[in-house]
Amino acid sequence: KPVVIIVVGMAGSGKTTFMHRLVCHTMGSNVRGYVINLDPAVMSLPYGANIDIRDTVRYKEVMKEFNLGPNGGILTSLNLFSTKFDEVISVIEKRADQLDYVLVDTPGQIEIFTWSASGAIITEAFASTFPTVITYVVDTPRSTSPATFMSNMLYACSILYKTRLPLVLAFNKTDVAQHQFALEWMEDFEVFHAALDSDHSYTSTLTRSLSLALEEFYKNLRSVGVSAVSGAGMDAFFKAIEASAEEYMENYKPDLDRRR
Ligand code: GDP
Ligand code: MG
Repeated sequence: KPVVIIVVGMAGSGKTTFMHRLVCHTMGSNVRGYVINLDPAVMSLPYGANIDIRDTVRYKEVMKEFNLGPNGGILTSLNLFSTKFDEVISVIEKRADQLDYVLVDTPGQIEIFTWSASGAIITEAFASTFPTVITYVVDTPRSTSPATFMSNMLYACSILYKTRLPLVLAFNKTDVAQHQFALEWMEDFEVFHAALDSDHSYTSTLTRSLSLALEEFYKNLRSVGVSAVSGAGMDAFFKAIEASAEEYMENYKPDLDRRR
C-alpha cells in the first residue's frame, strides 16, 4: 500500500516548492508517486498533479456564487471537494499496488486545512485507508527567534493532537539558514532557555514553561532539515517517512480501528 504524505505548514513555508522537490525526487529514483493538489487558489503549480482540486472547483466562481471573500472561497471550495473525496480514495485504491507514495499539497493558509471540517474529513479518509503521515513544513529562517519557534511548535503540536497521526517536521529553506539550532533547542531545554531573554517578562516565563511541556512532544517527533530549492535532506526525509509509516501501522492503525 502507498504511504500518504500530507504536506501542511504556514503560508509561505514552502509546501508547494517542497512538493515539487518530492515529485522530482520520486521520479529521479524510480519511486512511484501519485500527486494531489488541494489548494484551489494556487495560480500555477511547479509540478504536474494527478488530481487537482482546480479541475473540479473554480474558487473564484465559488466566491461570486456564495458572495465570499478569498478565504471563504477557498474553504467552501475545499468543502465542496471533500464531499466527493470517496471517489479520490477509490481511484487511488485501484492503483494502490503500483504506487509507493501519495503526495498531498494543501492550501497556503494552514488553518483552512487543519481547522476545517473538510480538512478533517479528507485526513480521516486517507488515514482510514492508507498509512498516512503528516509533514509539517517549517520556515527555518523565520523561526530563529525563540518566540516564533515556540509558536510554530505549538501549532505543530496542535496538529498532532487533532489528527493523531505520525508527524515529521521538515525544517525547510536550510539553504538560507541551517536548522541545527532547532535540533539543539528540542534536544535540551537549557539551550533553549539560554537563547531566551533573561528577563522575567510574562512571555519569556511562559515560553520557558511551554518548552518544558513540549519535551514529550519533541521526543516523539522526527525532524529533518531540507531545502526544497537545493534538494538537500531528501534521503533523510524519506527515511523519516518510512519510520513514521511503520509507527502508523503499530500505533495509529489499531487506535483508528478501535475508534470506529
Ligand atoms: P507555500 O505557501 O507553503 O506553498 O509556499 P511556496 O512553496 O509557494 O513558497 C513560498 C516562497 O518560499 C517562494 O518564494 C519559494 O520560492 C520560497 N521557498 C520555498 N522553499 C524554499 C527553500 O527551500 N529555500 C529557499 N531559499 N526558498 C524557498
Ligand atoms: Mg502552496
